[in-house]
Amino acid sequence: MASISKTLRPLARVATSSSRSPALRATRRRYNVPHSRYLSTTRPYLSVTKGEPLDLTDIPPTPISHRSEIEALMADSVSKFANEVILPKVREMDETEKMDPAIVEHMFEQGLMGIEIPEEYGGAGMNFTAAIVAIEELARVDPSVSVMCDVHNTLVNTAVLKYGSEAIKKKWLPRLATDTVGSFCLSEPVSGSDAFALATKAVKTDSGYKLNGSKMWITNSMEAGFFIVFANLDPSKGYKGITAFILEKGTPGFEIAKKEKKLGIKASSTCVITFDDVEIPKENLLGEEGQGYKYAIGLLNEGRIGIAAQMTGLAWGAWENAANYCFNDRSQFGQKIGSFQSMQHQLAQAWTHLQAARALVYNAARKKEAGQDFVQDAAMAKLFASQVAGQVSGQAVEWMGGMGFVREGLAEKYWRDSKIGAIYEGTSNIQLTTIGRLLQREYTR
Ligand SMILES: Cc1cc2nc3c(=O)[nH]c(=O)nc-3n(C[C@H](O)[C@H](O)[C@H](O)COP(=O)(O)OP(=O)(O)OC[C@H]3O[C@@H](n4cnc5c(N)ncnc54)[C@H](O)[C@@H]3O)c2cc1C
Repeated sequence: MASISKTLRPLARVATSSSRSPALRATRRRYNVPHSRYLSTTRPYLSVTKGEPLDLTDIPPTPISHRSEIEALMADSVSKFANEVILPKVREMDETEKMDPAIVEHMFEQGLMGIEIPEEYGGAGMNFTAAIVAIEELARVDPSVSVMCDVHNTLVNTAVLKYGSEAIKKKWLPRLATDTVGSFCLSEPVSGSDAFALATKAVKTDSGYKLNGSKMWITNSMEAGFFIVFANLDPSKGYKGITAFILEKGTPGFEIAKKEKKLGIKASSTCVITFDDVEIPKENLLGEEGQGYKYAIGLLNEGRIGIAAQMTGLAWGAWENAANYCFNDRSQFGQKIGSFQSMQHQLAQAWTHLQAARALVYNAARKKEAGQDFVQDAAMAKLFASQVAGQVSGQAVEWMGGMGFVREGLAEKYWRDSKIGAIYEGTSNIQLTTIGRLLQREYTR
Protein backbone atom coordinates (compact mmCIF):
# COMPACT_ATOMS: atom_id res chain seq x y z
CA MET A 1 0.00 0.00 0.00
CA ALA A 2 1.34 3.46 -0.88
CA SER A 3 2.32 5.49 2.17
CA ILE A 4 -0.57 7.68 3.29
CA SER A 5 1.66 10.53 4.42
CA LYS A 6 3.70 10.53 1.20
CA THR A 7 0.52 10.70 -0.84
CA LEU A 8 -1.02 13.49 1.23
CA ARG A 9 2.16 15.49 1.94
CA PRO A 10 1.90 17.74 -1.13
CA LEU A 11 -1.59 18.74 -0.05
CA ALA A 12 -0.47 19.36 3.53
CA ARG A 13 2.39 21.50 2.21
CA VAL A 14 0.14 23.90 0.41
CA ALA A 15 -2.87 23.72 2.72
CA THR A 16 -2.04 27.08 4.23
CA SER A 17 -0.61 28.79 1.16
CA SER A 18 -2.41 31.73 -0.32
CA SER A 19 -5.14 30.67 -2.76
CA ARG A 20 -3.23 32.60 -5.43
CA SER A 21 -0.04 30.58 -4.90
CA PRO A 22 1.06 28.70 -8.06
CA ALA A 23 2.01 25.69 -5.88
CA LEU A 24 -1.50 25.53 -4.47
CA ARG A 25 -3.06 25.88 -7.91
CA ALA A 26 -0.84 23.11 -9.31
CA THR A 27 -1.61 20.77 -6.41
CA ARG A 28 -5.32 21.48 -6.68
CA ARG A 29 -5.17 20.60 -10.39
CA ARG A 30 -3.22 17.42 -9.67
CA TYR A 31 -5.57 16.19 -6.96
CA ASN A 32 -8.67 17.57 -8.65
CA VAL A 33 -9.57 19.82 -5.71
CA PRO A 34 -12.22 22.41 -6.67
CA HIS A 35 -11.05 26.04 -6.44
CA SER A 36 -14.00 27.16 -4.43
CA ARG A 37 -13.29 24.80 -1.51
CA TYR A 38 -10.84 25.30 1.31
CA LEU A 39 -8.04 22.78 1.64
CA SER A 40 -8.03 23.21 5.39
CA THR A 41 -10.09 25.40 7.62
CA THR A 42 -7.29 25.70 10.13
CA ARG A 43 -3.52 25.64 9.91
CA PRO A 44 -1.06 22.99 11.03
CA TYR A 45 0.15 22.86 14.61
CA LEU A 46 3.27 24.97 14.35
CA SER A 47 1.69 27.93 12.62
CA VAL A 48 -0.29 28.90 15.71
CA THR A 49 2.02 31.33 17.40
CA LYS A 50 2.24 31.08 21.17
CA GLY A 51 -0.67 32.76 22.91
CA GLU A 52 -2.11 34.23 19.74
CA PRO A 53 -5.31 32.60 18.57
CA LEU A 54 -5.87 32.48 14.81
CA ASP A 55 -8.01 35.22 13.38
CA LEU A 56 -11.08 33.30 12.22
CA THR A 57 -12.96 36.37 10.98
CA ASP A 58 -12.61 35.59 7.28
CA ILE A 59 -13.15 31.86 7.52
CA PRO A 60 -16.68 31.00 6.40
CA PRO A 61 -18.53 29.02 9.08
CA THR A 62 -18.84 25.33 8.19
CA PRO A 63 -20.66 22.39 9.79
CA ILE A 64 -18.58 21.19 12.77
CA SER A 65 -18.12 17.76 11.22
CA HIS A 66 -16.85 19.25 7.93
CA ARG A 67 -13.43 17.95 7.00
CA SER A 68 -10.98 19.71 4.76
CA GLU A 69 -10.01 17.81 1.60
CA ILE A 70 -6.79 16.63 3.19
CA GLU A 71 -8.60 15.44 6.33
CA ALA A 72 -11.20 13.63 4.21
CA LEU A 73 -8.45 11.97 2.17
CA MET A 74 -6.70 11.05 5.42
CA ALA A 75 -9.91 9.44 6.73
CA ASP A 76 -10.48 7.46 3.52
CA SER A 77 -6.87 6.29 3.33
CA VAL A 78 -6.68 5.28 7.01
CA SER A 79 -10.02 3.49 6.76
CA LYS A 80 -8.77 1.51 3.74
CA PHE A 81 -5.48 0.70 5.49
CA ALA A 82 -7.26 -0.32 8.71
CA ASN A 83 -9.71 -2.59 6.91
CA GLU A 84 -7.15 -4.20 4.61
CA VAL A 85 -4.15 -4.51 6.91
CA ILE A 86 -5.31 -4.31 10.56
CA LEU A 87 -8.75 -5.96 10.51
CA PRO A 88 -7.51 -9.46 9.57
CA LYS A 89 -5.27 -9.41 12.67
CA VAL A 90 -7.61 -7.85 15.24
CA ARG A 91 -9.02 -11.02 16.76
CA GLU A 92 -5.67 -12.78 16.94
CA MET A 93 -3.96 -9.77 18.54
CA ASP A 94 -6.73 -9.59 21.14
CA GLU A 95 -6.53 -13.32 21.94
CA THR A 96 -2.73 -13.29 22.18
CA GLU A 97 -2.73 -9.90 23.98
CA LYS A 98 0.08 -8.72 21.73
CA MET A 99 0.51 -6.05 19.10
CA ASP A 100 1.75 -7.65 15.89
CA PRO A 101 5.17 -6.06 15.17
CA ALA A 102 4.23 -5.95 11.47
CA ILE A 103 1.35 -3.58 12.36
CA VAL A 104 3.76 -1.25 14.15
CA GLU A 105 6.01 -1.27 11.06
CA HIS A 106 3.05 -0.57 8.78
CA MET A 107 1.99 2.33 10.98
CA PHE A 108 5.43 3.93 10.51
CA GLU A 109 5.48 3.15 6.77
CA GLN A 110 2.11 4.81 6.38
CA GLY A 111 3.36 7.94 8.15
CA LEU A 112 0.75 7.53 10.89
CA MET A 113 3.30 7.89 13.70
CA GLY A 114 4.46 11.35 12.68
CA ILE A 115 1.27 13.05 11.56
CA GLU A 116 1.98 16.50 13.01
CA ILE A 117 5.77 16.27 12.87
CA PRO A 118 6.91 18.86 10.31
CA GLU A 119 8.38 17.62 7.03
CA GLU A 120 11.81 19.03 7.88
CA TYR A 121 12.00 16.41 10.68
CA GLY A 122 10.70 13.59 8.49
CA GLY A 123 7.02 13.76 9.50
CA ALA A 124 3.84 14.22 7.50
CA GLY A 125 3.47 17.91 8.43
CA MET A 126 -0.29 17.75 8.84
CA ASN A 127 -2.65 19.42 11.27
CA PHE A 128 -4.04 18.24 14.63
CA THR A 129 -7.45 17.38 13.19
CA ALA A 130 -5.76 15.09 10.64
CA ALA A 131 -4.32 13.17 13.61
CA ILE A 132 -7.73 13.09 15.28
CA VAL A 133 -9.33 11.75 12.09
CA ALA A 134 -6.68 9.01 11.86
CA ILE A 135 -7.17 8.01 15.53
CA GLU A 136 -10.94 7.83 14.99
CA GLU A 137 -10.67 5.72 11.82
CA LEU A 138 -8.18 3.32 13.43
CA ALA A 139 -10.45 2.85 16.47
CA ARG A 140 -13.36 2.03 14.17
CA VAL A 141 -11.41 -1.14 13.38
CA ASP A 142 -9.14 -1.63 16.42
CA PRO A 143 -9.06 0.64 19.50
CA SER A 144 -5.72 -0.93 20.54
CA VAL A 145 -3.89 0.20 17.40
CA SER A 146 -5.68 3.51 17.74
CA VAL A 147 -4.36 4.18 21.26
CA MET A 148 -0.81 3.33 20.18
CA CYS A 149 -1.12 5.99 17.47
CA ASP A 150 -2.86 8.41 19.85
CA VAL A 151 -0.34 8.29 22.71
CA HIS A 152 2.58 8.45 20.28
CA ASN A 153 1.21 11.41 18.30
CA THR A 154 -0.78 13.52 20.75
CA LEU A 155 1.36 13.08 23.88
CA VAL A 156 4.89 12.04 22.92
CA ASN A 157 5.45 13.80 19.59
CA THR A 158 3.64 16.89 20.85
CA ALA A 159 5.82 16.98 23.99
CA VAL A 160 8.99 16.95 21.88
CA LEU A 161 7.62 19.51 19.42
CA LYS A 162 6.48 21.86 22.16
CA TYR A 163 9.19 21.53 24.79
CA GLY A 164 12.21 19.89 23.14
CA SER A 165 15.40 21.85 22.43
CA GLU A 166 16.45 22.05 18.77
CA ALA A 167 19.03 19.31 19.46
CA ILE A 168 16.34 17.03 20.91
CA LYS A 169 14.02 17.73 17.98
CA LYS A 170 16.76 17.03 15.43
CA LYS A 171 17.75 13.81 17.15
CA TRP A 172 14.36 12.38 18.04
CA LEU A 173 11.62 13.67 15.75
CA PRO A 174 12.94 11.85 12.65
CA ARG A 175 13.09 8.63 14.66
CA LEU A 176 9.65 9.12 16.23
CA ALA A 177 8.29 9.68 12.71
CA THR A 178 9.93 6.62 11.19
CA ASP A 179 10.91 3.81 13.57
CA THR A 180 10.75 4.51 17.31
CA VAL A 181 7.55 4.15 19.36
CA GLY A 182 7.09 6.56 22.28
CA SER A 183 5.60 6.17 25.77
CA PHE A 184 4.34 8.80 28.22
CA CYS A 185 5.15 7.86 31.82
CA LEU A 186 3.26 9.82 34.46
CA SER A 187 1.07 7.46 36.56
CA GLU A 188 2.49 5.51 39.49
CA PRO A 189 1.20 3.04 42.06
CA VAL A 190 0.58 5.97 44.45
CA SER A 191 -0.52 8.56 41.92
CA GLY A 192 -3.31 8.09 39.36
CA SER A 193 -5.92 10.84 39.38
CA ASP A 194 -3.69 12.70 41.84
CA ALA A 195 -0.92 12.57 39.24
CA PHE A 196 1.35 15.15 40.85
CA ALA A 197 1.68 13.15 44.05
CA LEU A 198 4.18 11.05 42.11
CA ALA A 199 7.04 9.48 44.09
CA THR A 200 9.67 8.89 41.38
CA LYS A 201 12.69 10.99 42.27
CA ALA A 202 15.43 12.58 40.24
CA VAL A 203 18.68 13.90 41.68
CA LYS A 204 21.30 15.99 39.93
CA THR A 205 24.66 14.43 39.13
CA ASP A 206 27.79 15.78 37.41
CA SER A 207 26.71 14.41 34.05
CA GLY A 208 22.98 14.97 34.38
CA TYR A 209 20.38 13.26 36.58
CA LYS A 210 19.73 9.96 38.33
CA LEU A 211 16.20 8.45 38.48
CA ASN A 212 14.72 6.10 41.07
CA GLY A 213 11.14 4.90 41.33
CA SER A 214 8.49 3.22 39.21
CA LYS A 215 5.62 3.91 36.83
CA MET A 216 2.42 1.98 36.35
CA TRP A 217 0.02 1.29 33.46
CA ILE A 218 2.34 2.68 30.79
CA THR A 219 0.87 2.37 27.27
CA ASN A 220 3.16 1.28 24.39
CA SER A 221 5.94 0.38 26.82
CA MET A 222 6.67 -3.07 25.30
CA GLU A 223 7.12 -1.56 21.84
CA ALA A 224 8.67 1.77 22.83
CA GLY A 225 12.27 2.91 22.43
CA PHE A 226 11.61 6.43 23.75
CA PHE A 227 10.05 7.26 27.13
CA ILE A 228 9.04 10.64 28.53
CA VAL A 229 9.33 10.22 32.30
CA PHE A 230 8.05 12.63 34.93
CA ALA A 231 10.01 12.67 38.20
CA ASN A 232 10.34 15.03 41.13
CA LEU A 233 13.68 16.83 41.20
CA ASP A 234 12.90 18.84 44.32
CA PRO A 235 10.18 17.30 46.53
CA SER A 236 10.50 20.27 48.93
CA LYS A 237 8.74 22.31 46.24
CA GLY A 238 5.88 19.79 45.91
CA TYR A 239 4.49 19.49 42.40
CA LYS A 240 6.69 22.43 41.33
CA GLY A 241 9.65 20.05 41.51
CA ILE A 242 8.22 17.80 38.79
CA THR A 243 10.51 17.62 35.76
CA ALA A 244 10.26 15.79 32.43
CA PHE A 245 13.11 13.60 31.15
CA ILE A 246 13.78 11.59 28.03
CA LEU A 247 14.75 8.00 28.67
CA GLU A 248 16.05 5.68 25.98
CA LYS A 249 15.29 1.96 25.98
CA GLY A 250 18.30 -0.07 27.10
CA THR A 251 19.54 2.50 29.63
CA PRO A 252 20.99 0.50 32.57
CA GLY A 253 18.68 0.33 35.60
CA PHE A 254 15.53 0.76 33.50
CA GLU A 255 13.29 -2.29 33.40
CA ILE A 256 9.85 -3.37 32.24
CA ALA A 257 8.84 -5.19 35.41
CA LYS A 258 5.42 -6.51 34.44
CA LYS A 259 3.00 -6.56 31.52
CA GLU A 260 -0.61 -6.21 32.70
CA LYS A 261 -3.38 -8.59 31.63
CA LYS A 262 -6.44 -6.50 30.89
CA LEU A 263 -10.20 -6.45 30.29
CA GLY A 264 -9.91 -4.64 26.96
CA ILE A 265 -7.53 -3.02 24.46
CA LYS A 266 -5.52 -6.18 25.07
CA ALA A 267 -3.20 -5.76 22.10
CA SER A 268 -2.01 -2.43 23.50
CA SER A 269 0.81 -3.05 25.95
CA THR A 270 0.33 -1.66 29.48
CA CYS A 271 3.28 -2.19 31.80
CA VAL A 272 4.86 -1.43 35.13
CA ILE A 273 8.32 0.05 34.62
CA THR A 274 11.02 0.59 37.20
CA PHE A 275 14.05 2.89 37.53
CA ASP A 276 16.97 1.82 39.66
CA ASP A 277 19.71 4.48 39.64
CA VAL A 278 19.02 5.25 36.00
CA GLU A 279 21.51 7.81 34.63
CA ILE A 280 19.94 10.45 32.40
CA PRO A 281 22.38 12.66 30.48
CA LYS A 282 21.96 16.45 30.79
CA GLU A 283 20.83 16.75 27.20
CA ASN A 284 17.83 14.48 27.91
CA LEU A 285 16.15 17.05 30.13
CA LEU A 286 12.91 17.93 28.34
CA GLY A 287 12.22 21.65 28.61
CA GLU A 288 13.01 23.26 31.94
CA GLU A 289 13.48 21.85 35.43
CA GLY A 290 10.37 22.14 37.59
CA GLN A 291 8.04 22.74 34.64
CA GLY A 292 6.98 19.10 34.22
CA TYR A 293 3.58 19.54 35.89
CA LYS A 294 2.68 22.35 33.48
CA TYR A 295 3.78 20.26 30.50
CA ALA A 296 1.79 17.24 31.72
CA ILE A 297 -1.38 19.31 32.23
CA GLY A 298 -1.10 20.91 28.78
CA LEU A 299 -0.31 17.65 27.01
CA LEU A 300 -3.12 15.74 28.71
CA ASN A 301 -5.61 18.47 27.81
CA GLU A 302 -4.73 17.90 24.14
CA GLY A 303 -4.42 14.14 24.55
CA ARG A 304 -7.98 13.95 25.85
CA ILE A 305 -9.28 14.99 22.46
CA GLY A 306 -7.39 11.99 21.04
CA ILE A 307 -9.01 9.61 23.53
CA ALA A 308 -12.38 11.17 22.74
CA ALA A 309 -11.70 10.46 19.04
CA GLN A 310 -10.71 6.90 19.90
CA MET A 311 -14.00 6.42 21.77
CA THR A 312 -16.03 7.95 18.93
CA GLY A 313 -14.34 5.66 16.41
CA LEU A 314 -14.98 2.69 18.70
CA ALA A 315 -18.69 3.56 19.02
CA TRP A 316 -18.92 3.98 15.27
CA GLY A 317 -17.23 0.62 14.58
CA ALA A 318 -19.49 -1.16 17.10
CA TRP A 319 -22.61 0.50 15.65
CA GLU A 320 -21.70 -0.35 12.03
CA ASN A 321 -20.79 -3.92 12.86
CA ALA A 322 -24.18 -4.47 14.51
CA ALA A 323 -26.19 -2.40 12.02
CA ASN A 324 -24.82 -4.48 9.13
CA TYR A 325 -25.92 -7.62 10.93
CA CYS A 326 -29.39 -6.24 11.70
CA PHE A 327 -30.10 -4.72 8.28
CA ASN A 328 -28.49 -7.38 6.08
CA ASP A 329 -27.73 -10.69 7.77
CA ARG A 330 -30.17 -11.80 10.45
CA SER A 331 -33.84 -12.61 9.84
CA GLN A 332 -36.43 -13.59 12.43
CA PHE A 333 -40.21 -13.85 12.05
CA GLY A 334 -39.68 -13.76 8.28
CA GLN A 335 -37.97 -10.38 8.12
CA LYS A 336 -34.60 -8.75 8.75
CA ILE A 337 -34.33 -7.86 12.44
CA GLY A 338 -33.32 -4.31 11.44
CA SER A 339 -36.77 -3.79 9.94
CA PHE A 340 -38.53 -4.03 13.33
CA GLN A 341 -39.42 -0.51 14.39
CA SER A 342 -38.17 -0.99 17.96
CA MET A 343 -34.77 -2.07 16.61
CA GLN A 344 -34.64 0.90 14.25
CA HIS A 345 -35.47 3.28 17.11
CA GLN A 346 -32.57 1.97 19.15
CA LEU A 347 -30.19 2.13 16.18
CA ALA A 348 -31.37 5.67 15.46
CA GLN A 349 -30.98 6.82 19.07
CA ALA A 350 -27.46 5.38 19.25
CA TRP A 351 -26.51 6.99 15.92
CA THR A 352 -27.72 10.36 17.22
CA HIS A 353 -25.61 10.06 20.39
CA LEU A 354 -22.64 9.04 18.28
CA GLN A 355 -22.95 12.08 16.02
CA ALA A 356 -23.29 14.36 19.07
CA ALA A 357 -20.06 12.91 20.48
CA ARG A 358 -18.28 13.45 17.14
CA ALA A 359 -19.42 17.05 17.07
CA LEU A 360 -17.86 17.63 20.51
CA VAL A 361 -14.61 15.96 19.41
CA TYR A 362 -14.26 17.96 16.19
CA ASN A 363 -15.20 21.21 17.91
CA ALA A 364 -12.54 20.68 20.61
CA ALA A 365 -9.94 19.82 17.93
CA ARG A 366 -10.76 22.91 15.85
CA LYS A 367 -10.61 25.17 18.91
CA LYS A 368 -7.21 23.74 19.87
CA GLU A 369 -5.92 24.25 16.34
CA ALA A 370 -7.17 27.80 16.27
CA GLY A 371 -5.29 28.57 19.49
CA GLN A 372 -8.49 29.11 21.48
CA ASP A 373 -9.12 27.88 25.02
CA PHE A 374 -10.29 24.28 24.58
CA VAL A 375 -9.84 22.77 28.08
CA GLN A 376 -13.55 22.51 28.86
CA ASP A 377 -14.33 21.34 25.32
CA ALA A 378 -11.71 18.58 25.53
CA ALA A 379 -13.08 17.41 28.90
CA MET A 380 -16.67 17.41 27.60
CA ALA A 381 -15.63 15.53 24.46
CA LYS A 382 -13.78 12.83 26.41
CA LEU A 383 -16.49 12.47 29.04
CA PHE A 384 -19.34 12.21 26.55
CA ALA A 385 -17.55 10.14 23.89
CA SER A 386 -16.53 7.53 26.46
CA GLN A 387 -20.11 7.37 27.80
CA VAL A 388 -21.46 6.99 24.26
CA ALA A 389 -18.85 4.34 23.42
CA GLY A 390 -19.92 2.30 26.47
CA GLN A 391 -23.64 2.65 25.72
CA VAL A 392 -23.49 2.00 21.99
CA SER A 393 -21.07 -0.93 22.14
CA GLY A 394 -23.11 -2.47 24.99
CA GLN A 395 -26.35 -2.14 23.04
CA ALA A 396 -24.65 -3.46 19.91
CA VAL A 397 -23.96 -6.74 21.74
CA GLU A 398 -27.69 -7.03 22.50
CA TRP A 399 -28.77 -6.09 18.94
CA MET A 400 -26.75 -9.05 17.70
CA GLY A 401 -28.19 -11.48 20.26
CA GLY A 402 -26.09 -14.63 20.73
CA MET A 403 -23.78 -13.57 17.90
CA GLY A 404 -22.94 -10.44 19.83
CA PHE A 405 -21.89 -12.41 22.89
CA VAL A 406 -19.59 -14.97 21.29
CA ARG A 407 -15.99 -14.27 20.40
CA GLU A 408 -16.52 -15.17 16.74
CA GLY A 409 -17.21 -11.56 15.88
CA LEU A 410 -16.00 -8.23 17.27
CA ALA A 411 -19.10 -6.96 19.11
CA GLU A 412 -18.03 -8.17 22.55
CA LYS A 413 -14.51 -6.81 21.98
CA TYR A 414 -15.71 -3.30 21.23
CA TRP A 415 -17.67 -3.37 24.49
CA ARG A 416 -14.69 -4.58 26.54
CA ASP A 417 -12.48 -2.01 24.85
CA SER A 418 -14.91 0.82 25.62
CA LYS A 419 -14.41 0.62 29.41
CA ILE A 420 -10.98 2.21 29.29
CA GLY A 421 -12.37 5.48 27.88
CA ALA A 422 -13.72 6.47 31.28
CA ILE A 423 -10.40 5.73 33.00
CA TYR A 424 -7.22 6.84 31.24
CA GLU A 425 -6.04 10.41 30.63
CA GLY A 426 -8.35 11.49 33.47
CA THR A 427 -11.32 9.48 34.75
CA SER A 428 -14.87 10.64 34.04
CA ASN A 429 -15.06 12.16 37.54
CA ILE A 430 -11.92 14.16 36.80
CA GLN A 431 -13.44 15.43 33.51
CA LEU A 432 -16.62 16.43 35.39
CA THR A 433 -14.50 18.22 37.98
CA THR A 434 -12.72 20.18 35.23
CA ILE A 435 -15.98 21.12 33.52
CA GLY A 436 -17.62 21.99 36.86
CA ARG A 437 -14.74 24.18 38.06
CA LEU A 438 -14.72 26.16 34.83
CA LEU A 439 -18.49 26.61 35.01
CA GLN A 440 -18.20 27.79 38.60
CA ARG A 441 -15.51 30.30 37.56
CA GLU A 442 -17.70 31.59 34.75
CA TYR A 443 -20.95 31.81 36.67
CA THR A 444 -19.82 32.93 40.13
CA ARG A 445 -20.89 36.55 40.67
C1 LIG B 1 -4.94 0.54 30.01
C2 LIG B 1 -4.34 1.73 30.70
C3 LIG B 1 -3.42 2.51 30.03
C4 LIG B 1 -2.83 3.59 30.67
N1 LIG B 1 -1.84 4.30 30.04
C5 LIG B 1 -1.14 5.24 30.74
C6 LIG B 1 0.01 5.85 30.16
O1 LIG B 1 0.40 5.58 29.02
N2 LIG B 1 0.70 6.76 30.92
C7 LIG B 1 0.31 7.09 32.18
O2 LIG B 1 0.97 7.91 32.79
N3 LIG B 1 -0.80 6.52 32.75
C8 LIG B 1 -1.52 5.61 32.06
N4 LIG B 1 -2.61 5.00 32.63
C9 LIG B 1 -3.02 5.38 33.99
C10 LIG B 1 -4.34 6.15 34.00
O3 LIG B 1 -4.14 7.45 33.51
C11 LIG B 1 -4.90 6.10 35.44
O4 LIG B 1 -5.34 4.77 35.64
C12 LIG B 1 -6.02 7.08 35.65
O5 LIG B 1 -5.53 8.39 35.68
C13 LIG B 1 -6.78 6.83 36.95
O6 LIG B 1 -5.92 6.66 38.02
P1 LIG B 1 -6.10 5.40 39.02
O7 LIG B 1 -6.19 4.19 38.17
O8 LIG B 1 -5.05 5.47 40.03
O9 LIG B 1 -7.52 5.61 39.66
P2 LIG B 1 -7.82 6.46 40.99
O10 LIG B 1 -7.23 7.80 40.85
O11 LIG B 1 -7.46 5.64 42.17
O12 LIG B 1 -9.40 6.59 40.88
C14 LIG B 1 -10.29 5.56 41.29
C15 LIG B 1 -11.70 6.15 41.34
O13 LIG B 1 -11.74 7.27 42.24
C16 LIG B 1 -12.22 8.42 41.57
N5 LIG B 1 -11.55 9.62 42.04
C17 LIG B 1 -10.23 9.81 42.29
N6 LIG B 1 -9.99 11.08 42.67
C18 LIG B 1 -11.18 11.71 42.62
C19 LIG B 1 -11.61 13.05 42.88
N7 LIG B 1 -10.74 14.01 43.24
N8 LIG B 1 -12.92 13.35 42.73
C20 LIG B 1 -13.81 12.41 42.36
N9 LIG B 1 -13.47 11.14 42.10
C21 LIG B 1 -12.18 10.79 42.22
C22 LIG B 1 -11.91 8.17 40.08
O14 LIG B 1 -12.79 8.92 39.26
C23 LIG B 1 -12.13 6.68 39.96
O15 LIG B 1 -13.48 6.41 39.74
C24 LIG B 1 -3.23 3.94 31.99
C25 LIG B 1 -4.19 3.16 32.64
C26 LIG B 1 -4.73 2.06 32.01
C27 LIG B 1 -5.73 1.22 32.76
